[in-house]
Amino acid sequence: MEQYSVVRVIGTGSFGRALLVQTEGRGEKWVMKEIRLPKAESGMRTTRREAVLLAKMKHSNIVAFRESFEDDGHLFIVMEFCSGGDLLQRIRQQKGSLFSEDVILRWFSQMCLGTKHIHDKRVLHRDLKSKNIFLTEHGTIKLGDFGSACTLNSARAYAQTYVGTPYYVSPEIWDNQPYNNKSDVWSLGCVLYELCTLHHPFQSRSWKNLILKVCRGSYAPLPRHLPYELHYLIKHMFKTNPRDRPSIHTILNSHRVSRLLLKHL
Ligand code: ADP
Ligand code: MG
Repeated sequence: MEQYSVVRVIGTGSFGRALLVQTEGRGEKWVMKEIRLPKAESGMRTTRREAVLLAKMKHSNIVAFRESFEDDGHLFIVMEFCSGGDLLQRIRQQKGSLFSEDVILRWFSQMCLGTKHIHDKRVLHRDLKSKNIFLTEHGTIKLGDFGSACTLNSARAYAQTYVGTPYYVSPEIWDNQPYNNKSDVWSLGCVLYELCTLHHPFQSRSWKNLILKVCRGSYAPLPRHLPYELHYLIKHMFKTNPRDRPSIHTILNSHRVSRLLLKHL
């Protein structure tokens, strides 16, 4: 703790706080998440999972892990600071003016590459949403917040206790089926749709109606001016049966889509 000085608090949540810190020597800025460790051993394991899984990731489109340590009943996770803020903020800043096709495709392809890295490591993110996707000062996309992540086929992936942010939750989760790699693809589809329209694809004033819309896969069509590939992607990422939904690998390998995505990287 001595080697970091606190610049300011950037967020507080149920977990604890997120601090912007600076190293004593070179004055580099980092984000330090300070998380209260629960007393029970099982809860402690769950809390530590965030640090363990983030530490496994090494990719230019995932928030870089620096170190983690424990002190006085707290877990500290030190990671790369993304000064561009999160995508939800960026979407709100638009005040209704749509992003260009170029920006949408550049950001989306970076999200796909980050997600591919996560899935290649047999990890599921489980809370992909615009609020957990960050931008660096240079405008590079970084997937963050591994607080809900788990390893594929772990007991946790099968446990039905977890539901992410309702707008991004896939039909199979509402149907009490295990969380799988395709559920992350659904959430990513929700973010892509948000980038294209500045709205959530599935939204309603009541929970019941929201779940109904999600389970029917009924959403308002994308603006007509967007390229065919984006319409095609959204249609397939919102297949209600996860078996019909492409994996992140299928998306990146699909000839038609990948050509367009790579052009914008
Ligand atoms: P939670 O969603 O559980 O509150 P997060 O890790 O997503 O936890 O974020 C906590 C706060 O810190 C949020 O305000 C978020 O915007 C911010 N934050 C998280 N990671 C970064 C990062 N790498 N760079 C900049 N801000 C971050
Ligand atoms: Mg978050």
